[in-house]
Amino acid sequence: MTLNKQDLEQMVQKWPLLADMKAGHEVTWLNDQKSKQESSHWPITLKDMKEADERLKRFAPFLAHVFPETKAAGGIIESPLIDISGMKAFLEQLHGQTIDGRLLLKADHLLPVAGSVKARGGMYEVLKLAESLAIEHGFLSLTDDYRKLDSPSMREFFSRYSLSVGSTGNLGLSIGMTGAALGFQTTVHMSADAKEWKKNRLRARGVNVVEYADDYSRAVKEGRKLSEQTADSFFVDDEQSKELFTGYSTSALRLEQQFKEQGIQIDEQHPLIVYIPCGVGGAPGGIFAGLKRVFGDHVYGFFAEPIEAPCMLIGLMTGLHDEVSVQDIGLGGRTEADGLAVGRPSSFVGKAVEPHLDGIFTVTDEKLFAYLYTLFTFEGEKLEPSALAGMEGPIRAVKSGWMASALTEQQRAGAVHLVWSTGGSLVPQAEMNAMLERGEKLSGTI
Ligand SMILES: *Cc1c(COP(=O)(O)O)cnc(C)c1O
Repeated sequence: MTLNKQDLEQMVQKWPLLADMKAGHEVTWLNDQKSKQESSHWPITLKDMKEADERLKRFAPFLAHVFPETKAAGGIIESPLIDISGMKAFLEQLHGQTIDGRLLLKADHLLPVAGSVKARGGMYEVLKLAESLAIEHGFLSLTDDYRKLDSPSMREFFSRYSLSVGSTGNLGLSIGMTGAALGFQTTVHMSADAKEWKKNRLRARGVNVVEYADDYSRAVKEGRKLSEQTADSFFVDDEQSKELFTGYSTSALRLEQQFKEQGIQIDEQHPLIVYIPCGVGGAPGGIFAGLKRVFGDHVYGFFAEPIEAPCMLIGLMTGLHDEVSVQDIGLGGRTEADGLAVGRPSSFVGKAVEPHLDGIFTVTDEKLFAYLYTLFTFEGEKLEPSALAGMEGPIRAVKSGWMASALTEQQRAGAVHLVWSTGGSLVPQAEMNAMLERGEKLSGTI
């Protein structure tokens, strides 16, 4: 569907927020469709999550073997949970606004192998595929030591299959690294936003990188089409995949454990409020679904998008999901937040989160860089621009009036604000330095 001028005028009349978005302003949208009923129709159950976690545990010895950086953690791909009270104080001062409760960072930028949240969904989907192919052909049983998959004969077996994906960069990194480690013939279709270093890193691993001058939807479409024409070929479909979604959701089980270890209570009087950057929706959707399954009504969620690519916000607010794009409302979709440079959301994810999400807010690229610099200054963490989209979340939750209306005073005092950091540790040093410099200049202007 493409909107004509009249459709668009009607839409803007019905949803005045669209006018602000069209004009390039930041917005905070609160979901008034949120229903009180509990999450019975999530696409995943707690059982699915536990099975996925078991599968990841079966693969841990293999991962520790082929990716030395995962050895210390025994091949479990996980990230730390960090208190960022220095950043909290900075945000409060900058915005002249107290944030009740505490502020934590889920540091997925430190996830090994892929250096981003995509290590969760992407690696999971490839590992699951490898497991089922190997079992189906009699090379593996569930009780085996999975290190046996790292052999010339197994790599020869996997090389009969091709694996492909469309990506703005990070999903390609995750699928490419894992696919190549197993021996799959792996092709990554990269959109124009993908950073050069991500492509180079993949090529160095023998992954076939196809570049498009166009946006992400095109890279996915072409990749999907080529895969359909190829025998023994699998396409990781970021817009539709339940496996990716499930892989992301396992983070909630791990987080539950980390809260316990750090003595952090999540309950009625200590609600958890998460702020997650959103591209096509798979990562934030899967994480939020997992958290809802684990913490139920005690978790609240906001997604964050760049002002140029608020695809999930438009899709959810209008209920049109993937039938509307950011281009339809006159936005270019171009942003330095390459992981979020998506013009059309996943309808699978949009429909799943619709009755549960509390809101979505947008941020300028300038702020992403300014926060990149200040987070490094106050907490020593280096993130890529996409990963900072959620940083202003607690401020927005307060300033929009959401905190005051959704939570009691006691709940506000006990609130745990969790900003999800989605990528950055693999950014080459020179690029990181350039981004820090840019952020430093902008930090006085936001
Ligand atoms: C992919 C990505 C996201 C968002 O994930 P989606 O599944 O596209 O919504 C956020 N941050 C970073 C760094 C990413 O790479």
